[in-house]
Amino acid sequence: MKRIILFGAPGSGKGTQAKLLEMKYNYVKISTGDLIRAEVRANTDVGIRVKSLLEKGELVPDDAIVGIVKCHLEKDYTDRNGYILDGFPRTIFQAEELSRIQVEHEVAIYLKIGNEDIIVNRMLSRLTCMNCGSIYSMLDETIQRNKTCNHCGNPVGQRPDDNPAVVRNRIHVYRAQTKPVIDYYKGKGLLHKIDASASVEDVTKAIEGILN
Ligand code: AMP
Repeated sequence: MKRIILFGAPGSGKGTQAKLLEMKYNYVKISTGDLIRAEVRANTDVGIRVKSLLEKGELVPDDAIVGIVKCHLEKDYTDRNGYILDGFPRTIFQAEELSRIQVEHEVAIYLKIGNEDIIVNRMLSRLTCMNCGSIYSMLDETIQRNKTCNHCGNPVGQRPDDNPAVVRNRIHVYRAQTKPVIDYYKGKGLLHKIDASASVEDVTKAIEGILN
């Protein structure tokens, strides 16, 4: 089993790239943001516990997120070529917990964007499918008109945490808590860095160059 970890600030394109790779390479995409939003929507105990943290752009507690990820990794994915983690691990504790789950190959890819304005603009102009997590731009007229996902037909909309104040906090949280995790993977010799300010197609090509 292969494990691909996508790192990058919010809005760096992790979700978009994970979805494309999932379809092209028969991987399973595990997006902790999507999973935690589903818990909130379903009003589960975990969802009720973390709702306000999500709204503020804070990380949810490690035990909650590690529990959800482990539960997903226990599923039978033998018909898949590997799994892509989008949004996990985000703390050193999570990274250490993940390292207990053995895989044959592991690759960590860092989608780097130097300019914060690009990140903020992307996040404020994106629409997200509430079901499968597919991401669209508000500039896409067809999506604006139909407001449904091209992949699963469910409604798309703006995430409540994609608003200016929360976006700034999410970037701050990313720098403070997740940047050290990127260094952790660099130290292990597993990290590849990509310029994520390029077009979606060019970023996909760069990732494929690493995976092939
Ligand atoms: P994302 O969709 O990846 O931007 O995640 C949305 C929100 O879900 C984050 O702002 C956090 O509140 C929560 N979240 C997602 N992944 C994690 C994680 N690995 N650790 C802690 N909180 C997370």
